[in-house]
Amino acid sequence: MSDKAKLRDDCFALPSGVVWTPVDAALSHLRAEMRPVARIETLPAGLAAGRILAAPVIAGRDNPPWTNAAVDGYGFDGVACPAGSLSLPLVSGRAAAGAPFAGTLRPGSALRILTGAALPLGVDTVVLEEDVTLKSGRVEIPAGWKRGANTRPKGEDVKADAPLFDAGRTLRAPDLALLAAAGVAAVQVRRPLRVAVLSTGDELATDGAPPQAHQIPDANRPMLLALLRAWGMAPVDLGQAPDTEAGVAESLDQGARADAILTTGGASAGDEDHISRALRQAGTLALWRIAVKPGRPLALGLWQGVPIFGLPGNPVAAFTCALIFARPALLALAGGGWRPAEGITVPAAFAKTKKAGRREFLRARLREGRAEVFASEGSGRVSGLAWAEGFVELPDDAGSVQPGDPVRYLPFRAFGL
Ligand code: AMP
Ligand code: MG
Repeated sequence: MSDKAKLRDDCFALPSGVVWTPVDAALSHLRAEMRPVARIETLPAGLAAGRILAAPVIAGRDNPPWTNAAVDGYGFDGVACPAGSLSLPLVSGRAAAGAPFAGTLRPGSALRILTGAALPLGVDTVVLEEDVTLKSGRVEIPAGWKRGANTRPKGEDVKADAPLFDAGRTLRAPDLALLAAAGVAAVQVRRPLRVAVLSTGDELATDGAPPQAHQIPDANRPMLLALLRAWGMAPVDLGQAPDTEAGVAESLDQGARADAILTTGGASAGDEDHISRALRQAGTLALWRIAVKPGRPLALGLWQGVPIFGLPGNPVAAFTCALIFARPALLALAGGGWRPAEGITVPAAFAKTKKAGRREFLRARLREGRAEVFASEGSGRVSGLAWAEGFVELPDDAGSVQPGDPVRYLPFRAFGL
C-alpha cells in the first residue's frame, strides 16, 4: 500500500475558533485539500466509458483523415469548369467509401462518387445526385453549383495532435466515438476509487437476520453502496461495527485497504460516538460542525493515512451530507476534479420561514416547473428521501419563502444520480 498517494496529515483541520463552519467554507476547504489518490492504469479506449482520464488526451490523427464526399453524387474539377450550367462526360468507374478511385480525373469530366469516399485527384467539388440529370453518358449540372461544395476537408473536425480532453474528465459514450475517430487506441485512466462503507450502532440488526425487539434495519449501508456505484466508484462493504472502540478500530483497519472510508453513525462527541473516539485515539480527527440542516457534526480524519468521512447516523442527514460533502471530496480523490452540482432557479410551490446562520436542504421535487417540498422536515422521515427527486437549497441568511418566490433547486441528477 506504500505506493498509495497521500493526503496531508492535517488536511481536514479547519481554522480554530470557528464554532459553526459555513457550508461554502467547508466545501472550499475540501476543494483545496483533496487530491487524486486513485491509481492509474492504461485501458483500450473502447473499454474506458465511465472512467476518469488521468492525463490529457491529444488526437492521434486527422478526422476526417482525407477530404471526402459528404453526399452521394458526381465529382468534378470545379476550377477547370466555367460558372453556370455544365454538361460533363461521365467517366467509367467510381469512388466509394473504402474503395477509392485509383486514377486522376480529367478536367472537364465527371465521376460517380459516394458519401465518405476520398476525393480522387482531379475532384474538388461534388454535386448531389438529386440535383443533376444523366443523359446519354453525360452529367447535366444546373447553374448554381459551388466549387468545393458537398465535401468534408481533411482535418476539418479534428487535427492530429489537437487537444481532445483534459485530465479529470469522465469519459462518456460520445467521447469514445471521438477517441476512435481521432485514432486514440489507449488512454490513461484512474482505477475506480475504492470506498469502504461501514455502519455503526448496537441498534442495527445483523444483515439478513430479522430485527430483534431493540433493533432497527440498517438503512444507510445499501444507500451509500448504491450511491458509490452510481458515482463510478468501487464500494467495499465493511458491514457493521458495534458501539465499542475496539470494534470500530478493527473495521477501520479493514477499511484502510481502500482509498477512502465512509461511515455512518457515532460521529458526534457523545459517549457512544465511537467513530470520533477511535479517530481521536488512533488516527486524526477533525469534528466539523457545519452550519447545515440536516446535519450533525461530521467526523473527518485519516485512519492509517486513508481519508475517512464520518457521516451522521440518521439516514436523511447521512444522505444529504453524502451528496453535499462526501461526493465532491470523493470525486476529487477519484481524480475527477472539483464538480459542483448545477442547480436551477424555479418558483416555490411552498411557504417557509427560516432562521439565519445555517443553510438548509429541503427534500423536494419539481411538479409543473415548481418546487414542492416534503410535508415533514423531520430528519427521521426516510420516506421523504424516497419521495424527493432533489433538494431545495435555502441560503445561510434568514428568509421567508412564499409560493411563487424563486428558489434554488438541485435535482439529484446534478449529483450523478
Ligand atoms: P448516531 O449518529 O449514531 O447518533 O445515530 C443517529 C440516529 O441514526 C439514531 O437514531 C440511530 O439509530 C440512527 N442510525 C444510525 N445508523 C443507522 C443506520 N445504518 N440505519 C438506520 N438508522 C441509523
Ligand atoms: Mg450510533
